[in-house]
Amino acid sequence: MVDESKCITCGACVAICPVGAIKIVNGKAKLDPKKCIKCGSCQQFCPVSAIDLSKSEQPKNTDSSKESA
Ligand code: SF4
Ligand code: SF4
Repeated sequence: MVDESKCITCGACVAICPVGAIKIVNGKAKLDPKKCIKCGSCQQFCPVSAIDLSKSEQPKNTDSSKESA
């Protein structure tokens, strides 16, 4: 997700995203989780670390460690 209070609207994430998941909305970067493939590029390129993929909303728990035989 994008921390809008940190975002300086530089546009780097918009330019780097391979799937066009980020747009500038109302002067702040907005990440579309439905498009995002979590490649990590935007997080790396954001100059103010406004993007934290680990904080993305996770609709399902896909952690396989809960599997038991
Ligand atoms: S992690 Fe990758 S796919 Fe997702 S928004 Fe950032 S650049 Fe785009
Ligand atoms: S790279 Fe960071 S500061 Fe620049 S527009 Fe994206 S979220 Fe905002």
